[in-house]
Amino acid sequence: MHICQRCNGLTRVEQIWDSVMAIYTPTRICINCGDVVDRVILQNRAAQRTGGVSNCTAVARASCRS
Ligand SMILES: [Zn+2]
Repeated sequence: MHICQRCNGLTRVEQIWDSVMAIYTPTRICINCGDVVDRVILQNRAAQRTGGVSNCTAVARASCRS
């Protein structure tokens, strides 16, 4: 069971449409606070902090879609 990192609440899985991948992606959402607890989104947040997915490093290459 996954726990929300923000409020330690329980999370549930919803099928969310991913317009980039054009597929439904299982996404974890906190039942308590509504925060999205999903590793793909977490990766996107990390990418935004480091200047975007175009600057993939060797470490991040495994998860890079390019
Ligand atoms: Zn929460």
